[in-house]
Amino acid sequence: MTNNTTSGAFGLLLPKIGQAVSEAGYETPSPIQEQSIPSLLKGHDMIGCAQTGTGKTAAFALPILQYLEINKKRGSSGKPPVLILAPTRELAAQIRDSFEKYGKHTKARHTVIFGGVGQNPQVQTMRRGVEVLVATPGRLLDLMNQGHIKLSSVEIFVLDEADRMLDMGFIHDIKKVIAKLPKKRQSLFYSATMEPAVVSLARTLVDNPTYVTITPDKPTVELIEQKIMFVDKDKKEKLIVKLMQDPKMDRVMVFVQMKHVANRVTEKLEKHGIKAAAIHGNKSQTARTKALASFKAGKVRVLVATDIAARGIDVDNVTHVINYNMPVEPETYVHRIGRTARAGNDGDSISFCSAPERDYLRAIEKLLRTTIPVDLYHPFHDKESMYAKGAAAKPPPRKQRSSRNNNRSPGRRPRTEGRGQRTEGKRRWRGKK
Ligand code: AMP
Repeated sequence: MTNNTTSGAFGLLLPKIGQAVSEAGYETPSPIQEQSIPSLLKGHDMIGCAQTGTGKTAAFALPILQYLEINKKRGSSGKPPVLILAPTRELAAQIRDSFEKYGKHTKARHTVIFGGVGQNPQVQTMRRGVEVLVATPGRLLDLMNQGHIKLSSVEIFVLDEADRMLDMGFIHDIKKVIAKLPKKRQSLFYSATMEPAVVSLARTLVDNPTYVTITPDKPTVELIEQKIMFVDKDKKEKLIVKLMQDPKMDRVMVFVQMKHVANRVTEKLEKHGIKAAAIHGNKSQTARTKALASFKAGKVRVLVATDIAARGIDVDNVTHVINYNMPVEPETYVHRIGRTARAGNDGDSISFCSAPERDYLRAIEKLLRTTIPVDLYHPFHDKESMYAKGAAAKPPPRKQRSSRNNNRSPGRRPRTEGRGQRTEGKRRWRGKK
């Protein structure tokens, strides 16, 4: 009954769950998925030190769905077999959405409950019965106190973002919830950090757990001052030239989607007396090394790069990152802006967003779970881009791979640069560079 068509830990999934994973576009498991799925399928408890963006939701959702499916579990009225506690309504709703996505070919029913909205629809759904309940602590306790929810049938309990729960002062609520759980259960505990208070909470919850620690391939975005500039795509050149008049923009990395754009932006800057160099796949290794050395030495102020060419480049004291084009994949945004704010320094990132790029911005904000501030006062501010629905950002049709890529690992996304168009294919988990 396994699904051998997919790789690694995904191969352990029932075909109907594996199918949903493929339909989500995932080809390879992320490290936390690879490490967690086998152990969770065996019923072990878990302490996971991992933050959002590592793929942890699927890491626990997939084995849970499999457990429900194999054991034909049905939640009776007000008594869910799976409870997931999350600190915020956004996170709770996102987890519910993940269950919907990964469980779409299974019979699992799921719902989310949180405060700030009327409780009646939530009560009614609980009355009908669900297998997976995702909840924030306050509303869960309310409904428990009113007798609408009982935890006596919970077999799997997940506490997500425990450190954030503690920061938000939920410790007493969590303890009340834990006190009502049956002793015999599988418990999963996730936290981005493991300070002593978190560890002691974890100890009260789990029994002989498997430990999984994922060091995120992520910078501390908190140290980066991010902003969005909405701008018509034809005005981006003017905008960058304007911005570079600020002497504070001392060492700037500019990310573009395509090689010819890298060349064009570099030429434009040079024409305005701003020292710039480009690195991309069409440049020889010598030219790239030279450009990078000049940038590191401060001989050029601006390095214009495509994502692939910039991979692995580590330059100290980059003051600003400019996303000249919004990245197609939200994770790339995090990699890009991480070029500034290295080694505990702070840094700035400015993203140029035109109307067709609105969807990319939305995906980034969803990944970061935050809204990036908008600079409304730059001279090329474009309202149309700001209010664009972003429908134009649909992926173009897939293209045949060129022979150049034949030696790449199977399923790897064709490279985007140098083709005159971007390609959007399967989503392969990208590990550390
Ligand atoms: P999470 O850490 O659970 O919030 O997931 C972060 C993002 O990674 C979400 O947008 C997921 O859809 C995506 N994701 C999760 N697993 C994979 C995978 N194996 N391959 C590609 N993307 C994934």
